[in-house]
Amino acid sequence: MPRLLILIFFLCYWFGGKGNPTLQQSKLSLVPQPVEIKVQNGIFLLSGKTMISVPVGNNEIREVAKLFADELASVSGKKLEITSGETKQAIEFKLNTQANPVLGDEGYTLSVSKRNISISANKPAGLFYGAQTLLQMVPPVSTTAPIAIAAVQITDYPRFAWRGLMLDVSRHFFTKNEVKRYIDQMSKYKYNIFHWHLTDNQGWRIEIKGLPRLTEVGAWRVPRTGSFGAFAPPAEGEENTDGGFYTQDDIREIVKYAQDRFVTIVPEIDVPGHSLAFIASYPESSCTQRQYPVNAGFGTDADVVLCAGNEDNFKKLEIVFSEVASLFPCKYIHIGGDEADKAFWKKCPQCQERMKAENLKNEEELQSYFIKRVSKILAANGKKLIGWDEILEGGLADDATVMSWRGTEGGNTAAKTGHHVIMTPNQYCYLDHTQGENVIERYGILFCCFMRMREAYKFEPTEGVDNPSYVLGGQGNLWTEMVPNYRRAEYMTWPRALALAETLWSPKADRSWDEFVPRVEAQFPRFDQAEVNYATSIYDPDIAMVKVENDELKIVFTPEIKGLDIYYSFDCTFPDKFYPKYQDKPIDIPKGASEIWAISYRNGKPIGRLLVIRLDELKARMGK
Ligand SMILES: [Zn+2]
Repeated sequence: MPRLLILIFFLCYWFGGKGNPTLQQSKLSLVPQPVEIKVQNGIFLLSGKTMISVPVGNNEIREVAKLFADELASVSGKKLEITSGETKQAIEFKLNTQANPVLGDEGYTLSVSKRNISISANKPAGLFYGAQTLLQMVPPVSTTAPIAIAAVQITDYPRFAWRGLMLDVSRHFFTKNEVKRYIDQMSKYKYNIFHWHLTDNQGWRIEIKGLPRLTEVGAWRVPRTGSFGAFAPPAEGEENTDGGFYTQDDIREIVKYAQDRFVTIVPEIDVPGHSLAFIASYPESSCTQRQYPVNAGFGTDADVVLCAGNEDNFKKLEIVFSEVASLFPCKYIHIGGDEADKAFWKKCPQCQERMKAENLKNEEELQSYFIKRVSKILAANGKKLIGWDEILEGGLADDATVMSWRGTEGGNTAAKTGHHVIMTPNQYCYLDHTQGENVIERYGILFCCFMRMREAYKFEPTEGVDNPSYVLGGQGNLWTEMVPNYRRAEYMTWPRALALAETLWSPKADRSWDEFVPRVEAQFPRFDQAEVNYATSIYDPDIAMVKVENDELKIVFTPEIKGLDIYYSFDCTFPDKFYPKYQDKPIDIPKGASEIWAISYRNGKPIGRLLVIRLDELKARMGK
């Protein structure tokens, strides 16, 4: 086809005309938003004959190029060859011969002209991120037609070095392949830390060869389904058939898989609290030394804290942490340290004895003593300690890094004293919180907490921190009490993790919710193509009952995004677009109505889900 014609078709497509039906045009809808984009004239035509060019003899770059080629094939159907020879019309990966200081270790430049596409960086990580950006410029449609990539010059690098997601595999176990899939998906949005919550009261998930009972016993529990927290304890003689764990070979395989995608895995072994799986395996390790079952999610009076007076526990932890240290190349190990109930320590002669011997004034100082002992074990294995902000209580171990989850105050305190901090305040970062109207989302963590994506997008990791240079970055956390399967894990993560990805990567000044939303929506067909489950909760408004003058009750809708039309009914029939439309002011409740039904439309088509909610439920919410 003559070049001029292609250009005309391209312009038609670009401006919303029909254009050439066989030419797939890319549009820039990138998440996270790059630092600088200069749109230029022209297009690069990507065809099945386009080559991928890498430098001779650099295996790491070839690996990046191969991952790109594989992903491009699954996105577009085009399988490109990788070459080290001279080539025209190529996608070129190259390292800068002289480091570009602006880019750092993870930045890149991506240049698309009509002749070629070039990704350059100081380090292979930058090439990987450049490739992710380029992949988002390719429409998620398998096609034999050439793909037009708009000419552009992008310079990009991250705002924070720590861009994490945490997955809890204790409350529910996720298989090796599911964990890989999670890591693969997060790496597409330039996350670089996978925090792996491997142990808790509901299961011990990592093989420790020196303490085999941890997985023989601690990885298994009675099967229960439904609403976590309301499960029945084991019946007499009931078998523990639910659970699973990762062998050390599995761990090595996942670590390598993550490394290939420039994701560092931070393992978490949660002590001294959250240790029931450990205690179920070795009953002598708790203060009461009673035999408890691994918890499946039932109420319990179990002693879930390791005894701080029992010297043998520290010997066991030496075994655990030396094996963990040898499996994970990351310089950090997360030791939890959160929510350790001190009640059993108060009643335990061994713990009290320890406090006397070590001159500790209270149980908070005993917690601090415990963490410092663990910190020494980590140091002996060449690792640094990270803990939840409870590790501040009773005095912080030297060199410890704090993960601030109960708001940002703990993080601020730690940063003030020169400790590194990762911000993960629950109101912006907890992916187990419900993300939309509760009548549809239902089971968030313990029915208590809400976090719409709009809220997540407000997260600012350095807000309220006096010493912001100590903030390494931030992290989204997916606790899985209410996440019984992998599809649900994806649903809770996406698209909210896009908001966090952008906060952690893109310049603060560029953040704009209204401008972010269409870029998020552009990811939905990518999720569909990759068969990743995701929430469309942004289309479902919140519904509330409000009291207006004369104590009259009315209904208001609060949409999360602009441009939606909300149609509703009070007569228990499906509201199509000929029903009453919400006009941004409180609506009257007709006499005798018991339910409201509502659904969002955009451009005359339903886009939200049908919300059906009882008026007495709305009334009950008013009091809360
Ligand atoms: Zn004790």
